[in-house]
Amino acid sequence: KVKELKQLKDLPAETSDNAKRVEISANIGTPKDVKGALENGAEGVGLYRTEFLYMDRQSLPTEEEQFDAYRQVVEKMAPRPIIIRTLDIGGDKKLPYLNMPDELNPFLGWRAIRICLDRPDILKTQLKAILRASAYGKARIMYPMISGVDEVRRANKILDEAKAELYAEGKDFDEDIEVGIMVEIPSAAVTADILAKEVDFFSIGTNDLIQYTLAVDRMNEHISYLYEPFHPAVLRLIKNVIDSSHKEGKWTGMCGEMAGDPLAAPILLGMGLDEFSMSASSIPKVKKIIRLLTYDEAKEIAGKALSMSEPADIRAMVKEIVEKIG
Ligand code: PEP
Ligand code: MG
Repeated sequence: KVKELKQLKDLPAETSDNAKRVEISANIGTPKDVKGALENGAEGVGLYRTEFLYMDRQSLPTEEEQFDAYRQVVEKMAPRPIIIRTLDIGGDKKLPYLNMPDELNPFLGWRAIRICLDRPDILKTQLKAILRASAYGKARIMYPMISGVDEVRRANKILDEAKAELYAEGKDFDEDIEVGIMVEIPSAAVTADILAKEVDFFSIGTNDLIQYTLAVDRMNEHISYLYEPFHPAVLRLIKNVIDSSHKEGKWTGMCGEMAGDPLAAPILLGMGLDEFSMSASSIPKVKKIIRLLTYDEAKEIAGKALSMSEPADIRAMVKEIVEKIG
């Protein structure tokens, strides 16, 4: 079984009729994770969580320190694309040196892009480090926790400043670096048609999207039974994000846990999801399922799932199909 999954490593994540090919990438947190990503056949990094660079220390990491980490990842994975997410701190993750307030609702509070837009110095330093790394392979920028267009525009303005500074310093970078956003707040998912005009790509963060859509704290065990990726509200939002991006000629990936769920794979594939990013160890299983379905079969499964009302029924429907083909 392990051998069978290993053999999948170099095969494309493509439907059995070759009608749809998707990209399967890895989520990573440090340059050390690249090894596992490559061993499992990741075609890129769909989410590089940069928080670890900022944690367990007494001050902000310098541009040089960040550049060093990003460059390592970009170089080791080259020519594969690396999506580097800008700082997503706050919520459950605090930085002692940032003077973060105690909040009643930290997950609805001062976090991620909100902090970065309040402290443009932090964002600009990070963007300069990412830009410099982009000269060594294929890097992409991704902003977390975007709730509307204004935040994208403000972040991009800081990106323009970062580019101008590097230009003046005579440092190389990819001038056409792609910029995307995480779609993890319901307002962004609902207005994906508007946001699609502002970005190069979307990546759906289901961990937070489910939490905010269903008003279920993703860390609270008492209500974990309500945390439901197959809830019709979640599925409809995902479908809307994918369709809206395609209408603008953009693409949509997913980097939340749902992307690595073998039972979600047929539905997401059939909805037209373009990229699946997950922990490296999940890659072979998900790829296997994608390769066993035709695109029409996947579309039919997705259509069925979107027409059903009970998450448990959706799950059972997909489970039966996956068990039959696998
Ligand atoms: C998500 O919210 O789905 C996500 C990928 O980001 P994080 O888990 O880091 O919040
Ligand atoms: Mg998130």
